Amino acid sequence: MYFIDVILPIPLKQTFTYSVNKDEAAFLKPGMRVAIPFGKSKVYTGIVYQVHDQAPVGYETKSIDHILDDSPIITTVQLKHWEWLANYYMCALGEVIKAALPSAFLLESETIIKLVQTEILDESSLSDDEFLLYEALLHQSSLHINDARNILDRKNIVSVIQKLLDKNIIEVEETVYEQYKPKLKRYIKLASEYTSEEKLRELLDSLNRAPKQREVLMHLFMLSSKSKKPISATVLQKKSQASASTLKALEEKQILEAYFIQHDRVEFSGETSSDIKTLNEAQLVAYNEIKTSFKTQPVVLLHGVTSSGKTEIYVRLIEEVIKTGKQVLYMLPEIALTTQLIVRLQKYFGEKISVYHSKFSVNERVEVWKNVLAQKPKAQIVIGARSSLFLPFKNLGFVVVDEEHEPSFKQFSPSPRYNARDSAVVLAHLHKAKLLMGSATPSLESYHNAKSGKFGLVTLKKRFGNVLMPDIELVDIKEKSRKKQMTGHFSDRLLEEMREVLSNGEQVILFQNRRGFSPVVECTTCGVAPQCPNCDVSLTFHQYKNQLRCHYCGYNMAMMLSCLACGSETLDTKGFGTEQIETELKSLFPNHSIARMDQDTTKGKHAYSKIIEALENEEIDILVGTQMLAKGLDFRNIRLVGVMNADNLLNFPDFRAHERSFQLLQQVSGRAGRTQKRGKVLIQTYNPYHQILKQVSVNDFEGMYKEQLEERYNFKYPPFYRTVKLIFKDKNLARVQKASVWFGQALEIQFKENVLGPEPPPIGRIKNKYIIHLLVKIAKKQSLEKTKKYIENVRRSFNAIKEFSSVQITIDVDNY
Ligand code: ADP
Ligand code: ZN
Ligand code: ZN
Repeated sequence: MYFIDVILPIPLKQTFTYSVNKDEAAFLKPGMRVAIPFGKSKVYTGIVYQVHDQAPVGYETKSIDHILDDSPIITTVQLKHWEWLANYYMCALGEVIKAALPSAFLLESETIIKLVQTEILDESSLSDDEFLLYEALLHQSSLHINDARNILDRKNIVSVIQKLLDKNIIEVEETVYEQYKPKLKRYIKLASEYTSEEKLRELLDSLNRAPKQREVLMHLFMLSSKSKKPISATVLQKKSQASASTLKALEEKQILEAYFIQHDRVEFSGETSSDIKTLNEAQLVAYNEIKTSFKTQPVVLLHGVTSSGKTEIYVRLIEEVIKTGKQVLYMLPEIALTTQLIVRLQKYFGEKISVYHSKFSVNERVEVWKNVLAQKPKAQIVIGARSSLFLPFKNLGFVVVDEEHEPSFKQFSPSPRYNARDSAVVLAHLHKAKLLMGSATPSLESYHNAKSGKFGLVTLKKRFGNVLMPDIELVDIKEKSRKKQMTGHFSDRLLEEMREVLSNGEQVILFQNRRGFSPVVECTTCGVAPQCPNCDVSLTFHQYKNQLRCHYCGYNMAMMLSCLACGSETLDTKGFGTEQIETELKSLFPNHSIARMDQDTTKGKHAYSKIIEALENEEIDILVGTQMLAKGLDFRNIRLVGVMNADNLLNFPDFRAHERSFQLLQQVSGRAGRTQKRGKVLIQTYNPYHQILKQVSVNDFEGMYKEQLEERYNFKYPPFYRTVKLIFKDKNLARVQKASVWFGQALEIQFKENVLGPEPPPIGRIKNKYIIHLLVKIAKKQSLEKTKKYIENVRRSFNAIKEFSSVQITIDVDNY
């Protein structure tokens, strides 16, 4: 008798044993997929974990339906890595598998399939069963796999579906995101028949009675005499202060011609575009230090201020690694923010780059997966967000974790709640690959690791091209309010600087940490603020839709005309968000184009890229946004960055709040003045003497690091202690309280004063469920293994208590 242990993509800790025959046992290897029956009528795709001949005790094994792969689609290194993840982040291996594999690999009874091709050229290429399914799908738009099984009246359905998938006739249903095509930028030139001086003079004379059109032409000449670069329609219109219709009239007369080029091609036209840039002296020093460090250290942290040219250093290192034939993984916190980077890297490495991201369609992801597995040249460099960590690398040589400080490297929900940066360190170790972390504002954890010798540390203090760090000024808005020097949320200083920058045709970015119009609507008569019925938060006013909305559950209602509690009509809006700033801007700067970037305006498929592109093309003068603005964007023409209010960052109730504030403010500041002219940053605050703001204003990373580290030491937080957070949820408040007290007491027996809570978080109820937190702090010298085992044991006893059976527990290791 032969058996296989199979991992199923479900949140259960154990593997499941099935029986196989001798041939199957000889054929099957760990990492191959099998279709297996589960329960009464379910089919699952399982991953072979091991093949053996030990019959399990106590139950009859079922046999597998059939084998889905000819060779493993998961490598042994992956399995090892995933086991580490499950273990470290206290979840089931099946949960890791579910997160790791593109869903097309994990067909199950609930999977829905639909047609990709509705016309098949060669029907004879399909087997009878394949054809039957194909025909069924011509009549109904989609099918459950279980329905398909009824149609074919056979058990072996998964392989039929797999074949149709492989032939690209069907796909599994999922929101399919289209690939983004960059917009073409419009440029203007003079029609060729006017290029001779004579014709030109005639032309200008003929336009004597159309002064506006003449003005446009004059500016066109001026601009083209200054530089050989193409002249964009927007710039020409702006500089000549003409209207779109004037330009159009000139085009209709066939004096001007419009043409289109993809933006990024223009930026680099004339230069040796595809050649990798020569590093400057500082970059070269850093590069050499990294290489030296890698001789003894597997992980190096590159601390380089914004715009110091870190990316170019990565490029050099990547170039060397791919020459040796090894694979490279380049991880970024959020792929949505990487359009710019992808374009940049594609210029150097062209066809060798694949992008991997959960927002891609399943088929695209499957393709990248297969290319990486087969070590195809076109997937030699993978750029991706955190899920790219799960790809089947065979020969990984180098990992870059860019913007390593970003909290979004940590997956919050669902399980596995892994930190992709830390998991990448383990991945690199398993592959014996080198890993480079980069940031202008490293996390305290990584910087501490570097300082204490666990990582190598390389520093780059100057911006590339001797561009100065922006000049940062703190504006005391308490004082400004007292002196009546505020217009809405704008201080006179901010307005002054904005006017100057805008009059030079340069751009402004304004940062406001909250979206929406104003977080709270309050009745000035009775003080009542409308609350979400499902969550313990006040509703947020969204002016655009004239609605009150909950940012936690999506609940919304029309904005009321009078107070629901007392009927008074004196409603006041307190606090402010991006939308309110946008509204104020529209009346302050009616002649400038204003845009907003926050979660509400970037929901659509390509909304984010569109805003970035409009900013690059200088179609936007002022951009207001949330922290989305902070991440790694490189714009040429931003002269001024304004922070509307730094206080709501600083006052956030979290032990990382100060570190985060420093990082965010430094990062948004880094968007200003990336060219020769020095950029300016104005930070408005009620508290200009706050230590963090002072440190931000003089770029004192070291000072911030030392001070915060001391706090972390005193209050027992990372990097000195590890944390495990337990989150309890239930519809019934008394029950969740009782459950968390029970659990907390069980933990205290072992961990004493290192258990915090039970305590409700700042928002104690979301979607009608009450929430309570417990936090366990684990000293570095304490065994992590044993601690987790203890917590697991408590959880097991807890699960046996009937009274608590409805209480949901979530465990979050190294919580953010
Ligand atoms: P960082 O990643 O540190 O923020 P970047 O790599 O984006 O910095 O570099 C900032 C700017 O300087 C980019 O526009 C980049 O093209 C330019 N740059 C950096 N290094 C070089 C170099 N060696 N030669 C030419 N341009 C460079
Ligand atoms: Zn009222
Ligand atoms: Zn809500």
